[in-house]
Amino acid sequence: ATMPPLLSAMANAGRHGVLVKSAVVMERLGQADRVALDKTGTLTEGAPRVTAVRPLPGTGTTEDSLLASAAAAEHPSEHPLARAVVNAAQERGAELSTAEDFSSAPGTGVVATVDGHRIAVGSPSRLLREVPASAAAPAAAVVGELEDDGCTAVVVLRDEVPVGVLGIADRIRRDATETVASLARLTGSSPMLLTGDNPRAAGRLAAEAGITDVRAGLLPQDKADAVREWEQAGHKVLVLGDGVNDAPALAAAHTGIAMGRAGSDLALETADAVVIRDELTTVPTVVALSRAARRLVV
Ligand code: ADP
Ligand code: MG
Repeated sequence: ATMPPLLSAMANAGRHGVLVKSAVVMERLGQADRVALDKTGTLTEGAPRVTAVRPLPGTGTTEDSLLASAAAAEHPSEHPLARAVVNAAQERGAELSTAEDFSSAPGTGVVATVDGHRIAVGSPSRLLREVPASAAAPAAAVVGELEDDGCTAVVVLRDEVPVGVLGIADRIRRDATETVASLARLTGSSPMLLTGDNPRAAGRLAAEAGITDVRAGLLPQDKADAVREWEQAGHKVLVLGDGVNDAPALAAAHTGIAMGRAGSDLALETADAVVIRDELTTVPTVVALSRAARRLVV
């Protein structure tokens, strides 16, 4: 017997490196008329590196001690930024203390007890908000400098006092620009960027990828709200993401696709399809396969 078009499209998608979880999903992929992309780990390689270690004066912190305590707190996290911090500390030969009472807040950062101190690492806008202005100002100045350089800056707090800032930079995927253009052509609308990162880093990356519509500083729920808004306006939104922070948006979308290699378990479970071969161009390919299969079905 000849295979029904949607089933052979699924098999084809698999050969191109995308696991599509059902025939219904295979059918829906080609219906998308809007695309929302995550930044870190999706448009970027997701292998960011620490490029600046800046202890704040008067805090008794050195570059090595700052990096070591941040890395200890980040160790349990699966976030790409956490891996960057841990790698940087290990490259400097740091022995990492064990983190106790670890918790992470998607889109914000992590907090844990390290050597008897509460160490928080995360988003400057969110963490500095809870610090008195006089203590926040020196940290904010360094954050501004690093963000102007196109870095993602994360602040480190010890017992609620800012002690340093880390600058982290990630490369754009080499097929990001091509993928954005293909998705625009296939869906008839320009893809947009939804990110928890700061507006400067987001804007710079978006410009490189050919994206003009950027929403930055979003929490996971904000990403989902943006998707729901468009769905309620009658659009069929395709969301592409990788992180725990993308799970609500992936769930709210008409179809959600997760990047498999560095993707979090929650994203992979929530998504309707998973990119196994670590290339973004596989996404427009499966959208096109879906459209071709649907032409044969209807
Ligand atoms: P994106 O939407 O680009 O994938 P996220 O929502 O994962 O980004 O993260 C948004 C911001 O939250 C980061 O830029 C960082 O400031 C902060 N953050 C989240 N998780 C961590 C972590 N494990 N360590 C440090 N900062 C973090
Ligand atoms: Mg991400």
